[in-house]
Amino acid sequence: MQTPAPVEYARATSVGDAIALLEKHGDEARLLAGGHSLLPMMKLRLARPEILIDLNDLDELRGIRIEGDEIVVGAMVTHAEILDSPVLAEHYSIFREAEKVIADPIVRNKGTIGGSMCQADPSEDLSAVGSALKGSVIIQGSGGKRSLALREFHEGPYETKVGDAEILTEVRFPIRPGAGSAYEKVERRVGDWPVASAGAFVVVAGGVVKDCGIGLTAVGAEHFCAPDAEAFLIGKAPTEENLSAAAKLAADACTPYADQRGPVDYKLHLAHELTLRVLRRAVASSQGA
Ligand SMILES: Cc1cc2nc3c(=O)[nH]c(=O)nc-3n(C[C@H](O)[C@H](O)[C@H](O)COP(=O)(O)OP(=O)(O)OC[C@H]3O[C@@H](n4cnc5c(N)ncnc54)[C@H](O)[C@@H]3O)c2cc1C
Repeated sequence: MQTPAPVEYARATSVGDAIALLEKHGDEARLLAGGHSLLPMMKLRLARPEILIDLNDLDELRGIRIEGDEIVVGAMVTHAEILDSPVLAEHYSIFREAEKVIADPIVRNKGTIGGSMCQADPSEDLSAVGSALKGSVIIQGSGGKRSLALREFHEGPYETKVGDAEILTEVRFPIRPGAGSAYEKVERRVGDWPVASAGAFVVVAGGVVKDCGIGLTAVGAEHFCAPDAEAFLIGKAPTEENLSAAAKLAADACTPYADQRGPVDYKLHLAHELTLRVLRRAVASSQGA
């Protein structure tokens, strides 16, 4: 692989310092988290920042904690930490199931949730998890902090609502008592990006679906979600017939393109089948199976 073009390097000492450096250097600067997306892009000259601002010393961006009725995950929390987190596992098995199939241990040890969300790759797995769970992000700039729903965060492939002099500091997930969740991915080989993935949470109470969320990646679902399928299920019994109809609506919301990972009809088939499987398992888990 090529080597990157020469680049300046600064280690931020605080979030405020990182924001000041971003303001000073404008769009010539890029934040460096795990580097597993940014550095390959620099080697390929698809990104040519003049200065890298390294976030790796910022303990304020680390840690997974509960705050009120939300789980708060710092932007610099790694895939490996998400995989091993007892807090996340207690509330949502979707995290472990997704993380087990994201890349390999080398990438998972360095790659972060903040970098994953901000890279906004249309095949990114945690974006589907975040959309399924209807999470939100905290974005900080010199003017203060703002909160944004993850379903409004991505503007398109590789584009987010984080401004030039802003940092994503936290990703937040609502806690839903009684929720079951699941994630499934089809990949060509272990550690590869998905051909298609789907994730879901479901809360079943009184024999009907009280709440649910469906996330999809690599299949062109807008904002990585399937709101029509979710709306269809609310208030209905989680029968095989209803789950299958919801999975069809989810596939209808997808617009995949053909590439080396497969043709369009195969990806649409996977969107339907994987959604059905995660809905079934999320329902069973919510019902205590
Ligand atoms: C071989 C390989 C296989 C992979 N397979 C998968 C896979 O199967 N599924 C999957 O989902 N991902 C996969 N990935 C991607 C992996 O998850 C990366 O870790 C992730 O995309 C980027 O995270 P990072 O911390 O390395 O970010 P970086 O590469 O450091 O940064 C990515 C981008 O986000 C910006 N950024 C980083 N942090 C912030 C922040 N806090 N605020 C604002 N902007 C920020 C950077 O400036 C940069 O533009 C794979 C990567 C590799 C190398």
